[in-house]
Amino acid sequence: NGFVKLGLAAELLRAVEDLGYTQPTLVQEKVIPLALPSDDSAGQGAASYTDLMVSSQTGSGKTAAFLLPVLHTLLTQQAQAEARERADFDRAVAEAAAKGEPAPKRPKRKDPTNARNFKAATPGALILCPTRELAQQVAHDAIGLVQHCRGLRIASVVGGMPYQLQIAKLQNANLVVATPGRLLDLQRSMQIKLDQVQFLVVDEADRMLDLGFSDDLAEINQLTIERRQTMMFSATFAPRIQQLAARVMRQPQKVQI
Ligand code: AMP
Repeated sequence: NGFVKLGLAAELLRAVEDLGYTQPTLVQEKVIPLALPSDDSAGQGAASYTDLMVSSQTGSGKTAAFLLPVLHTLLTQQAQAEARERADFDRAVAEAAAKGEPAPKRPKRKDPTNARNFKAATPGALILCPTRELAQQVAHDAIGLVQHCRGLRIASVVGGMPYQLQIAKLQNANLVVATPGRLLDLQRSMQIKLDQVQFLVVDEADRMLDLGFSDDLAEINQLTIERRQTMMFSATFAPRIQQLAARVMRQPQKVQI
């Protein structure tokens, strides 16, 4: 499989195989290596990321080009966090044994479906799409790609869908696919907090501006100002797209397909 050389996690390679992708498309081959962190220390604070501005058309495979590197890094961070948790627990057990005390119990996970345990969603990755149809398509692709990833959850937040259903699915989501208007509604009503967002993708940026989402994008940009990486995909690099890029990215690398 041609994806092996891109350095993605085994769980993602399995999904790619299951989806029947044998070779990365051109945009995937170019974007994935650039989007991955520059070393393997994701989550340690030492990794560095490149902002990307990509010209690409629908049908080029652009969705997997941004989803795969983001999911890879979320997965790596999750594995590292679990390893730290295990090591801490093992140390606590050893210390208790040395002192002749009873072994500590494993911390219990709270049941997220119990309304009393409600807390605002804090996704690590946010994908913005201009329309509900596109957001649903991207979320569908993301769900296909995480089929072998235990513990990575995807949610979509789009206008015209019942709030309650979206909120329930949102709580433990690691990656959220959203249209800007509904996302800001949920942010204002404190169902979602955007300050943990590390990765921001603006898909079909040109249509985003056509549909009048410029102010919403500016607001979301401010709410996620601590993020590590931004990627923008657009059919063209027209001047207004370049202006948007200059506002939301730091020295983006341009990828023209
Ligand atoms: P997109 O441009 O992201 O809308 O993708 C267009 C279609 O190509 C989608 O249906 C994907 O499932 C499919 N696709 C994406 N990457 C690949 C690949 N490497 N090989 C075969 N099909 C792919």
